[in-house]
Amino acid sequence: MIINCCKLLIMKKLALHWQILIGMGLGVLAGLGWSYMGWVQFTLDWIKPFGTIFISLLKLIAVPLVLASLVSGVSNLSDISKLSRMGSRTLGIYVFTTVIAITLGLVIANVAQPGDSFSEEKKRQFQEQFQAKAAEKKESASKVQNQSPLQPLVDIVSDNIFNSLSDNRNMLKVIFFAVLFGVALLMVPPESAEPVQKFFAGINDVIIKMVEIIMAAAPYGVFALLASLIVEFAGDNPATALELFVALGYYSACVLFGLALMIFAIYPLILRIFVKFDYIQFFQAISPAQLMAFSTSSSAATLPVTMDRVEKELGVPEQITGFVLPIGATVNMDGTSLYQAVAALFIAQAYGMDLSLTAQLGIIATATLASIGSAAVPGAGLVMLVIVLEQAKIPVDGVTLIFAVDRILDMCRTVVNVTGDATVCTLIAASEGVLEYNKELENK
Ligand code: ASP
Repeated sequence: MIINCCKLLIMKKLALHWQILIGMGLGVLAGLGWSYMGWVQFTLDWIKPFGTIFISLLKLIAVPLVLASLVSGVSNLSDISKLSRMGSRTLGIYVFTTVIAITLGLVIANVAQPGDSFSEEKKRQFQEQFQAKAAEKKESASKVQNQSPLQPLVDIVSDNIFNSLSDNRNMLKVIFFAVLFGVALLMVPPESAEPVQKFFAGINDVIIKMVEIIMAAAPYGVFALLASLIVEFAGDNPATALELFVALGYYSACVLFGLALMIFAIYPLILRIFVKFDYIQFFQAISPAQLMAFSTSSSAATLPVTMDRVEKELGVPEQITGFVLPIGATVNMDGTSLYQAVAALFIAQAYGMDLSLTAQLGIIATATLASIGSAAVPGAGLVMLVIVLEQAKIPVDGVTLIFAVDRILDMCRTVVNVTGDATVCTLIAASEGVLEYNKELENK
């Protein structure tokens, strides 16, 4: 059967999401096999680099893609006032879905009480084992905390666009520059504007083609990523790793249940009510982006795929995807914020604390800000969780308790982050009356 799957993969007869799923499945099997055989070093030396190369290829095109699609998108707008309306709607809906996600997380953790069953002995064992790793996260969090409250605003404006273009973490600066550039392009005489517009439109097409070329390697990339992830997690003793996982099984189940509700209930509901979109079709269209989010644990690395799918498969025009999706990848993290709510309550419960309603409302506020401030990279949510815990006066050392399963939960919450971005993007396109899907429906 494995050979048949490989043949299908090589012949590329299957839809992309099936190819990626097969790559992921084979990666998991290979990772488990190599881990049992003790081939840890082999995997890290000879397989992991291909996963790293694949992520780099995706990140490589993220900044140019955002710049080109935004400049050409904005400069094609017939009406600039559309931009500010779209901007405020986008931010408003992003905050709204984030608050829903956190509230859902809090309700689940209050009802299920996952931390109550966590024994003192397990607590001690986890604290000793993950002390050093938790210290690293605390240090990263304290750097963020020492900044001015207006720092996020300051961070949006670049003082040197060439410097900003050279670092993927500066996505908001690039967005700001591109919007300003696109608006200015609309204001200069057509003879000056036209060649520049054509240049960026051309770059945009070329980069979209690059996304397609890179995605042809996706099944192999995810194979390498998942195989090496499993080997890193399990080492040469998968049984111990499994024990850690089982100990945190109830907590993980709560997070996963909440994430599943977002994907299978909240987003479909939003799409049904406001867009009248068939969710199965939506799912099929963005599934490659969801699978990439799962494999890379990074909304930023997944961004080119999300933009490509939402534009081509859902029919959202580039001036909307170029604006809404990069902002979403940076500020909208529904999965991360839901996880932060469950994790904060789990830790509080494990430490025998009873959080008042006011403290929990405080968690909604800080987790919303924290998810906006989290970078779209693996593990960023855990750093910001430190800040949520401090704000709610929950022992920060508690992050040691959830470390063991954080990576796998990170993979799942990133899927929700990316799905949330795509949902809001579709919603915005529908509200602007430019969603191809709706136009087709009207014409039927
Ligand atoms: N990995 C997540 C993302 O990139 C952020 C996090 O939750 O750690 O969206």
